[in-house]
Amino acid sequence: MREFQLVIQNRTGLHARPAKVLVKATKKFESDIRIFHGDKQANAKSMISVLTLGVECGGEVRFEVVGADEDAAAQALRSLIEQGLDEELPSTSVPVSASSPKSEVVLPVIQDQNVGKQLTGVPAAPGIAIGPVFQWQRNQIIVDETFTDVVTERASLDKAFQAAKEQLVALHNKLVTQSAASEAAIFEVHLEVLEDPELLERVYEGIESQHSAAHAWQVAIDDRANILAALSDSLLAARAADLRDVGDRVLRLLLGDKDGDSNVLPAYPVIVVASNLTPSDTAALDSDKVLGFCTAAGGPTAHSAIIARARGLPAVVSAGEAVLRLKNETLVILDGDAGTLIIDPDAEVLKAAQIAQSQYRACWDAAQKLSSEPAITQDGHRVEVVANIGGVDDAQQAYARGAEGVGLLRTEFLFLDRDTPPTEEEQFEVYRDIALALKGQPVIIRTLDIGGDKPLPYVAVPEEMNPFLGERGIRLCLARPHLLRQQLRAILRASEHGKLRIMFPMVSDISEVRQARAMVEELQSQLGAGSVEIGIMVEVPSAALLSDIFAPEVDFFSIGTNDLTQYTLAIDRTHATLANKLDGLHPAVLRLIARTVESAHQAGKWVGVCGELGSDPQAIPVLVGLGVDELSVSTPAIPMVKAQVRELQLESLRVLVSEVLACSTASEVRDKVKTMR
Ligand code: PEP
Ligand code: MG
Repeated sequence: MREFQLVIQNRTGLHARPAKVLVKATKKFESDIRIFHGDKQANAKSMISVLTLGVECGGEVRFEVVGADEDAAAQALRSLIEQGLDEELPSTSVPVSASSPKSEVVLPVIQDQNVGKQLTGVPAAPGIAIGPVFQWQRNQIIVDETFTDVVTERASLDKAFQAAKEQLVALHNKLVTQSAASEAAIFEVHLEVLEDPELLERVYEGIESQHSAAHAWQVAIDDRANILAALSDSLLAARAADLRDVGDRVLRLLLGDKDGDSNVLPAYPVIVVASNLTPSDTAALDSDKVLGFCTAAGGPTAHSAIIARARGLPAVVSAGEAVLRLKNETLVILDGDAGTLIIDPDAEVLKAAQIAQSQYRACWDAAQKLSSEPAITQDGHRVEVVANIGGVDDAQQAYARGAEGVGLLRTEFLFLDRDTPPTEEEQFEVYRDIALALKGQPVIIRTLDIGGDKPLPYVAVPEEMNPFLGERGIRLCLARPHLLRQQLRAILRASEHGKLRIMFPMVSDISEVRQARAMVEELQSQLGAGSVEIGIMVEVPSAALLSDIFAPEVDFFSIGTNDLTQYTLAIDRTHATLANKLDGLHPAVLRLIARTVESAHQAGKWVGVCGELGSDPQAIPVLVGLGVDELSVSTPAIPMVKAQVRELQLESLRVLVSEVLACSTASEVRDKVKTMR
């Protein structure tokens, strides 16, 4: 038998990617290879087994290799791990110790070795925060299994449910008043969990079988969450997290924690550092005590990041496990625009950050005051700034916050979480109310963008290997004309009450536009409805590349940079570990945007951007310089986007545009924008 011991130095430990490289390598040998970590052991040829070891950066592992090729296997694996398992190792890495006893293993201590150092993550919410670190840890919940009697257990469960409902309603309302009505909907899902009859039946059965309410509740939640999480569907997996989130809230209440969480923030303001934050955590963070947050995992499109943006809380996500080793009270500068965390800055860096922070705050205040004014560049070029919304509440907030219209109404919200499709009448009423809320300003209604990744119980779609490449958006609707016809009728009828425009998602071929347009025209004549502008989302590279073919046949384009980036770079937009590579400022994406704008303008049409890139401060000068006519962003971002446009000089952006289009990487593009500022 060969035996050796070493320290895993990869930033995120033995997580999916390095674990995969390791497992692939072990399979080349016939020897039996086992990995030991703490009190756990794993078969090194099984990916799931290796992942369940939970080895983090700095974690010590021991290998046992038994078999005919054990020498070769041990040697190959050691050198593979020392070289980083196909990943670049952090510069602060610990010397590899093949056989050192535990006491000799020196873990990297960030505070001492990294004074003034910078950790880089993904920007999630703009702004600068300066303050001491507070490590936010989810305390493990120890469930009390003592059973009293059925009546008492049922009564304590009901009491915990009641308290949980009150907390959830309060969180929901807090977000609604902070202009995050769509995000508040997550708490409606949580409330629904508390009413789920099947789940309740399971819990009551548990209590009847002489288990404590806490135990019965935990088992019921775990069962379902495990089943959901095991499905490959990313949306269902996200639901598993929601289930656990609400499950923990009730458990803590059952165990006597009235706040639903055991993290007590210090009395002074802090920068929260966490492995990840649930939407509940983020919404509940007390703005008086929390200056911003930084998470080791998570992506910029996660609910928690969106909530942070809505609350004006600077945030950085996906910064890697190293942030979790920062000591409480370490002074840091969190830059939510750059996506960085500077540790123990020296006086000069601190001073510069303080100046930048007060400038940012002054800009923010001024921007709020001017939010209903148009966004016109220094040299007189107007850019429309409109809102992305998900419902009637959002529409009212958008109007109040200075939106010049709606650039994207995601109609999915009307179709999700129900067993039958909304009727034409229901849809009509919602579209009419949104049109009225916008008081004559244009509203772009995107037809149903649903597909394999967002399943609807009443729309049968065969299981797909790659749902993002499957029956989605317009493809799905054209294959179910009844669904599309009903929606179009509702939009056309509601168009009497305002300026509605129709937009088709996921268009990849001109024949789709022709079929959809023909359907609109047929319904218009049936209903005697007035004319409505028709546009398409440009979010598939084929549509951008053939934009000159599409432009004469549509009234406008709206570039969906979330999907355009995913399809151009071939990176799943929900991928956790590739999140930091999914950058819409990649020159390949920018060239497609440039081409789309050029084709539209040549045909006398206008172009908007409705993906997240439209509110990225580094992207705004590039998009305006490329000639984008409209930026459609989340409501809370409107004032700052307008303020930034007002600072620009269109003429001087021409140089920037020619330079960024010639760049080779997204980070080169970002550097160019920074030097322009
Ligand atoms: C996009 O893809 O950029 C977009 C705005 O659409 P969604 O995020 O709803 O797919
Ligand atoms: Mg899209």
